[in-house]
Amino acid sequence: METAFWHPQALMSQVKNDEIVLERGEGSHVWTDDGRKLFDATAGLWYANIGHGDQRITDAVVRQMNQLETFHAFGNFATPITKALCERIVSLAPLGDDAKVFLASGGSDAIDTAAKLARRYFTAAGEPNRRILVSREYGYHGLHGFGTSLGWLQPNREGYGELDPDIIRASATDADEVEKLFMNTGPELIAAFFCEPIIGAGGAIFPGEEYLSKVRELCRQHGILFIADEVITGFGRTGPWFASERFDLQPDMITFAKGVTSGYLPVGGVVISQRVCEPFWADGSNEWFKHGMTYSGHSTCAAAAMANLDVIEADGLLDRVRELEPKLDEALQSLADHPNVAEIRSGTGLVGAVVVDTAEAGQGLYEGLMANGVISRKLGDGRALQYSPPFVMTDDELAWLTEQTRAALDTL
Ligand code: PLP
Repeated sequence: METAFWHPQALMSQVKNDEIVLERGEGSHVWTDDGRKLFDATAGLWYANIGHGDQRITDAVVRQMNQLETFHAFGNFATPITKALCERIVSLAPLGDDAKVFLASGGSDAIDTAAKLARRYFTAAGEPNRRILVSREYGYHGLHGFGTSLGWLQPNREGYGELDPDIIRASATDADEVEKLFMNTGPELIAAFFCEPIIGAGGAIFPGEEYLSKVRELCRQHGILFIADEVITGFGRTGPWFASERFDLQPDMITFAKGVTSGYLPVGGVVISQRVCEPFWADGSNEWFKHGMTYSGHSTCAAAAMANLDVIEADGLLDRVRELEPKLDEALQSLADHPNVAEIRSGTGLVGAVVVDTAEAGQGLYEGLMANGVISRKLGDGRALQYSPPFVMTDDELAWLTEQTRAALDTL
């Protein structure tokens, strides 16, 4: 029967009669309503870092629900769990002890918050002409208003009329091109540079460290805010809590979501450095960030986040990511000389892609993997298949995944 559920990012003319209904999850696996066991090679949409079905999260959520499900935080209301989460995120993020956290319900919310705050900061700081936001080709920053304008995957931009005209596209790999763009635009008009440390949805694209450090320095020279979009990389996917630490980015803001709760409940947000907080937080200031959502700081969602961070610490999952990084790299690279493989992208954290020659081959590999019991996902131009497993994947599961991938490649 035709579904009533309009799926996100889906061709509903087909999906309406072709849903895969998932009923249960445990660790790196989920089960369909007809009993098929599927390996979650992507951790859902890069979020299920601690794996599925962890009772410790359920227990924490129930405890908070029994106490106070939530209370909005507009004005001066707060709950202990939400305050504690913000303090904990500040202590984990590499932005200094005086950073602050603005909470929201997901990555797109976080991006809209950061984009508005970047412009609002400069009006508060006496530079109202700094309005231009720069983001990178292949970049993906969610699909709210600002995210749609900041993202450069063309199909996501089409059909909405003019997007934000003060958002411009930069090279994703060539720092000299970024410098030219800054100089041609007038760096004094640029508010912020948005940067995924590793481009995820655009195709698992790793920038040279030189690119990141040069662009970071350019932003510093010209007073441009550097915003690390860590919606995918935040909370451990590259080993440390944040990829900004691994790549020494010292951002002015970090956007996060997904991994903060491992997807158990929706939370996103922005970690904001002292520089950006200052005009709003200074004693006597009348500057007010007129922004926020009903669920900014939702208490039960905060409880899920706290429990998730507890699990990551108690189970040593950041160490496990560091241990798995070379193993995933080796496993994927072992497929590099397969005749149907065009390229392997891997080597940093639990982020990888098997790239084939055409989008049709990408679809074929996706279907072959699914037939073998593996959920993957096509990224970017449809040629790259995503490998971003939960941190709890075992060595045996990785070996099995590699075998299934080779078998699916054989049948292309
Ligand atoms: N930013 C990045 C880098 C993302 O990968 C995503 C989602 O995949 C987003 C922002 C948007 O997050 P959400 O889908 O939670 O709104």
